[in-house]
Amino acid sequence: MSEAQEFDVIIVGAGMSGMYQLHLLRGLGYSVRVFEAGTGVGGTWYWNRYPGARFDSESYSYGYSFSEEVLREWSWSEHFSAQPETLRYLNYIADKFDLRTDIQFEARVASAIFDDAGNAWDITMEDGSRARAQFLITAIGPLSTPVMPKINGIEDFQGDYFHTGQWPHEPVDFTGKRVAVIGTGATGVQTIQEVAKTVGHLTVFQRNPNYCAPLLNSPIDDEAQARIKASYDEIFAQCNSTHSGFLHDADPRLALEVSDEERKAFYEQRYGEPGFGIWMGNFRDIFVDQGANDTISEFVREKIRQRVKDPAVAEKLMPRNHGFGTRRVPLETGYYEVYNQDNVVLVDIKDTPIEKITATGLRCGGVEHEFDIIIYATGFDAVTGGFDKIDIRGVDGLRLKDKWGQGPRTYLGLQIEGFPNMLTLVGPHNAASFCNIPRCIEQNVEWVADLLAYIKDHDIKRIVPTLAAEDEWTEHVYDVGSKLLFTKVDSWFTGINRNVEGKTKRTFLLYAGGAPAYREKCDEVAANDYEGFVLQ
Ligand code: NAP
Repeated sequence: MSEAQEFDVIIVGAGMSGMYQLHLLRGLGYSVRVFEAGTGVGGTWYWNRYPGARFDSESYSYGYSFSEEVLREWSWSEHFSAQPETLRYLNYIADKFDLRTDIQFEARVASAIFDDAGNAWDITMEDGSRARAQFLITAIGPLSTPVMPKINGIEDFQGDYFHTGQWPHEPVDFTGKRVAVIGTGATGVQTIQEVAKTVGHLTVFQRNPNYCAPLLNSPIDDEAQARIKASYDEIFAQCNSTHSGFLHDADPRLALEVSDEERKAFYEQRYGEPGFGIWMGNFRDIFVDQGANDTISEFVREKIRQRVKDPAVAEKLMPRNHGFGTRRVPLETGYYEVYNQDNVVLVDIKDTPIEKITATGLRCGGVEHEFDIIIYATGFDAVTGGFDKIDIRGVDGLRLKDKWGQGPRTYLGLQIEGFPNMLTLVGPHNAASFCNIPRCIEQNVEWVADLLAYIKDHDIKRIVPTLAAEDEWTEHVYDVGSKLLFTKVDSWFTGINRNVEGKTKRTFLLYAGGAPAYREKCDEVAANDYEGFVLQ
């Protein structure tokens, strides 16, 4: 066995959270090593290079806020930046703060075993190399484990096939090709509208439609750029005041207390504005009151009816089994109009699942379809999937996967009883899992940095939450969730993924109490000398 490299802190993942955590902990004098499976930084924006990938958050609300210099130097070119620009931004950050010197690339962590006597984590990489550190910080992201569908014959296909979350680094040319896209979540929608521009023939296989709303992206001109740069303080203050870290926040009115005309006018206004206003800035009761939700659901269905020429196709695109906003709302640019193209076909597979992938295409409903390229936009083993892929064992050899067999249990979504000295950035039941993510990442990372500063000052060897604190937080997470229509619907929010063993029972993976309440709770815990944790 090779000798283990020793560090104070090991961080898994060099995406937005891992990069910032490295920067802050290095500043505190910790020796830190980041292990990253990819060949470069960027996490989500490194892996998801599929055509059409871009922000659904306003670019200037998404970048890091911690450095005045970065805010001055970096100029976003569009209101909703495309993936290549975002990846360039994250590489610029890595250069500026000299992060790469402490990141080991092409290093995938296979196991993390807690040494109870030594209060340290022993890490083994897939290539067998080893490392050891007092603290283990997971910065693995909530949507980092792409999942292929469970369909026979996937490897028999003789054409090219790709999962959107593992897209090749070289561009893929669709010109004149017969292409299939399977999946119509936020990723599928972005992919479909882009591929449709050049494809020979496109077939979309849809199981459940989603309520999509216009993104309304545009370039940022010089005047807007100057305005944005001059108002970063207000932009971040606004994000930090809203429920989910976006620029948009719920309207104080109730959908059912206003007149039909006022409601309709408000929905029209929101539908005509860029970004997530229609989801995050809607009447505050649409997430909790089915009657209120029905009004916006029908409004969006009507938009689909108006935009798609063939009524039968429009009908297939209208969700009927869940309400607007109870699953992630995909933002789109001409998505519905794609189905007006002569070379695009929508196949509804709700009642007739794809039977088999064949050498030349696939068989569905007894019909053979031939393709040159198949795109799997089938999503991720969300939030807990990244943890499940690593053999993580805590005190007495307890496996995290077993502990979370009935759904995750955590304290603040940041630590787990039985797993000392392990911190989970953007972990399950953490407000960052339902947030304009960099805003909540900064909160998570800064809170962990403050904790590790405290630990250094007090010469603490071990920190772990009490079972009571973990139970109380988990109960609170479910209590908040139970009031929302979200939790009555199958989606990655509720831990459902029928392509993954054991993910068929609804749990709840997010913390939906809002970023401000979460931040307040975390600050209170810290102010009370890390109440709920045992520090030794
Ligand atoms: P997703 O929302 O989980 O969607 C997966 C899609 O694949 C669904 O349409 C699903 O159908 C379909 N599917 C899965 N297995 C299938 C099978 N065996 N046969 C047929 N269809 C199958 O995944 P995603 O679209 O990758 O999005 C995940 C999350 O990533 C989003 O919710 C969002 O948070 C994030 N995201 C963000 C951005 C952005 O900010 N710009 C862009 C893209 C994604 P069912 O609905 O029937 O399960």
